[in-house]
Amino acid sequence: MFSVSCPKCGSKDVMLLPTNEYVCKKCGHRWPMPQADYTWIEVEIKKAKLFEKYIDAPVDSCEELVSQLLKELDEKNARLLAAKILLQRAERRRTTPAELKKLYDDAERCFQ
Ligand SMILES: [Zn+2]
Repeated sequence: MFSVSCPKCGSKDVMLLPTNEYVCKKCGHRWPMPQADYTWIEVEIKKAKLFEKYIDAPVDSCEELVSQLLKELDEKNARLLAAKILLQRAERRRTTPAELKKLYDDAERCFQ
């Protein structure tokens, strides 16, 4: 079941200690078991909630939307989500080509 190998000598003869550490039976090297990183899941859940919150909100410009989203997300995520919201709105509203172009332009500015 172990696909773990020692970072020091490469041996696959590795044991898991009750302290959540690995120890290499060949060279005796010890290293901590990597903890699962769930932060990206939390960010995804937060983004889904924010999406629902702002999809129908009366916030029309990208800058305003980003500044709201920045209260809860880092800049990269805030800009991506703002663009996603603006594009999704464009599709939901069945806008005229001119309005659609404006919405797409706004969404594009979110990345700048
Ligand atoms: Zn080793």
